[in-house]
Amino acid sequence: MVDDALAARARSLDEEHHDTDLRGRFRLPAGTTYLDGNSLGALPVGVAEAVADAVTRQWGNDLIASWNTADWWGASARVGDRIGALVGSAPGQVLVADSTSVNLFKVVVAAARMRPGRDILLTDGDSFPTDVHIAEGAARVAGLVVERVSPADAPARIAELGDRMALAAYSSVDYRTGELWDLPAITRAAHDVGALVCWDLCHSAGAMEVGLDGHDADFAVGCGYKYLNGGPGAPAFIHVAAQHISSFDQPLTGWNGHAEPFAMSPDYAPAPTIERARVGTPPVLGVLALEAALKAFDGVGMAGVRRRRSLALTGFFLECVDALVPGIVVASPRDDARRGSQVSLRHPHAYAVVQALIARRVIGDFREPDIIRLGFAPLYLTHADVLRAAEHLREVLGTREFARPEFSVRGAVT
Ligand SMILES: *Cc1c(COP(=O)(O)O)cnc(C)c1O
Repeated sequence: MVDDALAARARSLDEEHHDTDLRGRFRLPAGTTYLDGNSLGALPVGVAEAVADAVTRQWGNDLIASWNTADWWGASARVGDRIGALVGSAPGQVLVADSTSVNLFKVVVAAARMRPGRDILLTDGDSFPTDVHIAEGAARVAGLVVERVSPADAPARIAELGDRMALAAYSSVDYRTGELWDLPAITRAAHDVGALVCWDLCHSAGAMEVGLDGHDADFAVGCGYKYLNGGPGAPAFIHVAAQHISSFDQPLTGWNGHAEPFAMSPDYAPAPTIERARVGTPPVLGVLALEAALKAFDGVGMAGVRRRRSLALTGFFLECVDALVPGIVVASPRDDARRGSQVSLRHPHAYAVVQALIARRVIGDFREPDIIRLGFAPLYLTHADVLRAAEHLREVLGTREFARPEFSVRGAVT
């Protein structure tokens, strides 16, 4: 009965949102419900062909000429602009480069130099570990002190710290619980005391509107391989607001960020544009794969992606969980305004539950200490997928299938 009602509801939601269903732009294996697009996005149609062309024609045939003829040199800024359009950053402010970790390092040191005499870097101690590690490491280099404060308490703490505040560095969505933090409020609080703010968009870029320019965000960093679907180890991105580019004095002064890289000068002079965020030679194949992957977003408005897919899918999953797995602890906010594009559940045997789900081809992931993390990539999942996942979860828990010994064996990557 419950199942029939939910199946009918899934069908009606899929019909209602049919025009925003972009599953056809992805190559997903049959029989798989992929709920890990927040860790590694699925493969978009056209990427394999674009990479094959880059390898065989551009590299194999045209060789080094492709730096000019295929504009390999300009790809970092060109693809940056495409990502900028998805996160509300006007052209000329986003560059594809390096990893999120490295880009965060650049921002912290540059921000410290832009706010001399201020000593506090405020960040979330419960953030993704690399964000905290890099904050600590970069702060040591830049002479800042890291203070760890939850995003919920950040605006008040920023006001207290006043002109000691140099930079607030936060994630817009919590990687564990999927909580959407208050980007506008933290940004305003930082600006009210003359401080700068950096947003980590790893769990929001490609899943929702971010509105970097609209909220006057100074800096942002984020991954290419999560909701942007750029592929394993895809290069990351960095946003520097236009008014800060000329004072963005980042520490990794590699030759690619030079104003005239091919003048081969021994003296460093940063490029006047966002290209000053470059360091060394970019991973061209990775940048081109990311560029091809971003075509999945062609003609797509992020407001619709957020409302008609991300929130519809996660909201329906919560409905299914309430009906089929009552009593399980939901770690993600139920309030749409506070939820990213994932639903996390808590369970004492979370690791084994995730493994049992994977064996049933419902792929999510586990996060310490007890989180079953299910990401709902908005472009390629349907409400039918959502229901299927909840039904498998009910069976895995109801039969205690997760207690089978093979589900407790840990791989190198969880
Ligand atoms: C995925 C993720 C990262 C990953 O950083 P890399 O440098 O790509 O390894 C960093 N921060 C957050 C918040 C993430 O979710």
